[in-house]
Amino acid sequence: MYRVGVVGFGVAGAAAAHLLARDGHRVTLLERAPVLGPVGAGILLQCSGQVVLRHLGVLDRVLARAAKLEELHARHAAGGGTLIRTRYPDYAPDSFAYGVHRGVLFNALSDLVAAQPVDVRTGCEVAAREDTPGGVTLTDTAGRRHGPFDLVVGADGSRSRVRAVSRFPASVLEYDHGTLWVNAPGAGVPGKLLQVVERNRKLFGLLPLGDGLVSLYWGLPARDLKPTVARGLDALKAEIVRFAPEAAPVLDFVHDFEQFLFTTYRHVHARRYHDARVVLIGDAAHAMSPHLGQGANLALVDAWRLAAAVRESPTPAAAFRAFRRRQRGYVGYYATVTWLLSPFFQSDWGILGWGRDWALPLLPRLPWVRRQMLMTVCGLKGGYLRGPIEV
Ligand SMILES: Cc1cc2nc3c(=O)[nH]c(=O)nc-3n(C[C@H](O)[C@H](O)[C@H](O)COP(=O)(O)OP(=O)(O)OC[C@H]3O[C@@H](n4cnc5c(N)ncnc54)[C@H](O)[C@@H]3O)c2cc1C
Repeated sequence: MYRVGVVGFGVAGAAAAHLLARDGHRVTLLERAPVLGPVGAGILLQCSGQVVLRHLGVLDRVLARAAKLEELHARHAAGGGTLIRTRYPDYAPDSFAYGVHRGVLFNALSDLVAAQPVDVRTGCEVAAREDTPGGVTLTDTAGRRHGPFDLVVGADGSRSRVRAVSRFPASVLEYDHGTLWVNAPGAGVPGKLLQVVERNRKLFGLLPLGDGLVSLYWGLPARDLKPTVARGLDALKAEIVRFAPEAAPVLDFVHDFEQFLFTTYRHVHARRYHDARVVLIGDAAHAMSPHLGQGANLALVDAWRLAAAVRESPTPAAAFRAFRRRQRGYVGYYATVTWLLSPFFQSDWGILGWGRDWALPLLPRLPWVRRQMLMTVCGLKGGYLRGPIEV
């Protein structure tokens, strides 16, 4: 039995804390927010994330409040022609994605944590790490010390302090484009995530979330945020509806600019994400833009595979090595593909949007490529030349 410190009560941290406590370890979960709760837009729950939630015993509960999606459909704003249509059942007849409100996923994971003897400490922003022969001690910004721990799981998101204080080298790319998004009552277009695009300059999305909610997003370069706010809500609503008429019933519920949240993205690649006692999972190790809709799903797979590695290995260091061996090809593939694809969906390099509009409809015509694309979207592709992962 280990004394485990988990930093961050997000998707990755909650799942890891539950699993490690369930295996009999003494788990302390440190979260900087004073009050626990979900942050962020709706989530596209892919087949990979569904498998982990099934293992955790909460899949049915989550899906009961989610919207079942058969396809991702991207169409051009001008002319309305299809850019790409990806049907999940073309991968396997029982494959679907689900649009889920983050609160639904968060509550399910939060209840799992509560079901185990996890010592949850909120309002603790970890700021320092100290290694002693007795274990790793973590200190928060208020100077409180936590630990010592035999192993620490850094699940504190893309701006990870655990990563910084552990001196794990990482490259960080801040994208200059982001998304204005809002959750509102509505059904969206049932059965699909609809995207409407104009080259890589404009991007609109409508993601049904279940529970009578829909998530609407509108891509924007960060530099355009202020001018957009200055033009006013009515001008923005009119622009979005002209671009994608399906937005109209959702925007009827938006009366104040404050209902929109603007999110930017970052790509984080931790070149080393563990030492003998500390390991990073989720966005702390590999944050990426949401264009492939994989981040939360990868976080769940990380948690599942880390717990399995700890169970099967004689020491934390051996467990982290086993975890890295299992995850390297899988996560590396998704990180690279997302990094490569992102500017084709949102960037100032118009030539990439032109290239995408030309190439994307052609690629699925090759049966092998089409299969790999489907496996990728489902979140199951195990690496560049690998088949589906086993979780
Ligand atoms: C607009 C947008 C849309 C997205 N859509 C999707 C999607 O459709 N599908 C998908 O799979 N993914 C999506 N993602 C990505 C997904 O949200 C993330 O990959 C996922 O939330 C990562 O989970 P995590 O637990 O690793 O990190 P986080 O969810 O960021 O959780 C980190 C936790 O650590 C806490 N914390 C941070 N620093 C400290 C500290 N120093 N001490 C203690 N606690 C700390 C934070 O408060 C937080 O609770 C999207 C992201 C964005 C921005």
